[in-house]
Amino acid sequence: MTVRHVAVLGSGQMGSGIAQVFAQSGYEVTLYDLQKEALNQSKKQIERLLLRSIEKERITSAEKEATMKRLQFTRELSDLKHVNLVVEAVVEDEAVKVELFKQLDDMTSEDTILASNTSSIPITKLAAATQRPEKVVGMHFMNPVPVMKLVEVIRGLQTDDRTYKKVFQLTKELNKTAVLSMDFPGFIANRILMPMINEAIFTVYEGVASVEDVDTVMKLGMNHPMGPLTLADFIGLDTCLSIMEVMYEGFGDSKYRPCPLLKQYVQAGWYGKKSGRGFYIYT
Ligand code: NAD
Repeated sequence: MTVRHVAVLGSGQMGSGIAQVFAQSGYEVTLYDLQKEALNQSKKQIERLLLRSIEKERITSAEKEATMKRLQFTRELSDLKHVNLVVEAVVEDEAVKVELFKQLDDMTSEDTILASNTSSIPITKLAAATQRPEKVVGMHFMNPVPVMKLVEVIRGLQTDDRTYKKVFQLTKELNKTAVLSMDFPGFIANRILMPMINEAIFTVYEGVASVEDVDTVMKLGMNHPMGPLTLADFIGLDTCLSIMEVMYEGFGDSKYRPCPLLKQYVQAGWYGKKSGRGFYIYT
């Protein structure tokens, strides 16, 4: 099966970037979201990033126009009936994703590959919600998607060879590097990254150091391009919390317990950059 038409579900920060890279690589893309405002924002964001690429002489204005033409924006799930690949990137909520996978399974052709960009929800569980578990796979892009080269390809317990090999090949066509991960909590990237971010939050919570100093230590002392608390704000503190909770539950190991301060910030609606406030304030 040749993939020509891709559906991206969720037009938040990740979905928007995923739609952009597929469209720039020549695929027809339909971007779906429940919220009109999210779709409008996404269209504006993609146009803005493409304009910046023209300024930097990375693409021509004809390429920008061609990319925008390949993108459709919709609030109707039924517009996704004829796609060959779905990349789901809605909110990190298991019940929401399971429901969407059931609907997609009923609606799309039996050949269609159903991929999820989830950071932490088991692909095996999403696959079990469908009648085609062997065609369900994880395609975990990094943020910001147009810039970051890595995609973790997650092989659920039921994913067949054909499906994950196809997704590996597609990832190459997007000019990205795929790495294979088995389906265990946090996969590879978040299993290593999130405990570090959580420990940085504990360091602030216990009064050991300020937010700025924790970030400075990791930037200047460890040569990280961004401090862990800046990175947490960028990822979204709600997303960080849900990943820690999935790892805590999945491994049953107290080393993954989320810091109470992280929980409290999320309760306050301080989600980081996207909400205007997290460990830092964004204007
Ligand atoms: P986001 O909050 O920016 O966007 C989520 C979008 O999903 C919103 O536009 C919302 O309107 C939409 N949505 C919610 N329920 C929906 C539904 N039922 N149908 C259609 N649209 C719906 O979130 P994000 O940061 O883009 O994360 C999306 C996914 O990508 C999550 O699974 C997250 O774990 C994963 N992810 C995030 C990052 C990151 O750095 N933020 C990195 C890798 C993977």
